[in-house]
Amino acid sequence: MPELPEVETLCRQLHDRIAGEKILTTAVYDDKLASLGSVRGCVIEAVRRSGKIIELRLNDGRSIAIHLRMTGRLLWRQDEKREPHTRWRMTVADGNVDLVDPRRFATVKVEPTLQDKAQRDLMTGFDAKTFSAKQSTRKVSVKILLMDPKAIAGIGNIYACEILYRAGISPFRQATTLSEREWRNIFRQARRVLKKGIEKRGTSISDWRDLYGCRGENQNDLKAYGQEGKTCCTCGGFISRVKQGGRSTFYCPQCQK
Ligand SMILES: [Zn+2]
Repeated sequence: MPELPEVETLCRQLHDRIAGEKILTTAVYDDKLASLGSVRGCVIEAVRRSGKIIELRLNDGRSIAIHLRMTGRLLWRQDEKREPHTRWRMTVADGNVDLVDPRRFATVKVEPTLQDKAQRDLMTGFDAKTFSAKQSTRKVSVKILLMDPKAIAGIGNIYACEILYRAGISPFRQATTLSEREWRNIFRQARRVLKKGIEKRGTSISDWRDLYGCRGENQNDLKAYGQEGKTCCTCGGFISRVKQGGRSTFYCPQCQK
């Protein structure tokens, strides 16, 4: 499932590729996607990320909002062929942006461009005070809280494991037991981990590919996620894997307290 770095990677690549372009046509190939209404002739002014949503901002005050969910991918094509599971296509002068999505959970909507949705986004004006007041008092583990999109936008299982490993915090700690200093450390590590993920164009463990069908490179730098049984870079012990909230948690029992 794409997390913040993967979505940001797509937004940057899309911006470079289609900002300033006019939409010539769009086509829906899957009945499950509602008709978009008319965007033909609109100019894409910019491509921006809002949490995990990709916003194609149009010159008439609306945006095409794409949420990739589980298996959605966007692919740039300069021919008429379509990958299997292509559900939607947008055509500009020199090519097509295709939504390829085997499990069909991704959504594409046209809506008024909303301003200022960034309060939960660690990379853009994160409101740590509101977070502390509302979220850090909840009776859940710190890892589950990091992965809650209502608390913080864009962190899934891979990056949550990496952030807590680097912060030296046990994923099983109750959020209420963390000090202000520990939260600050988590946010600092989170920004580092996400920034690096963006620089490496995402983590390709299974099906993540960028706009040009290329794998990201961040999987080569993971210290905890998927490293079960391997040596911890810090203490020389072993990385463990346990089930937590239905997902695999990878952590170092020695370093993460
Ligand atoms: Zn360790």
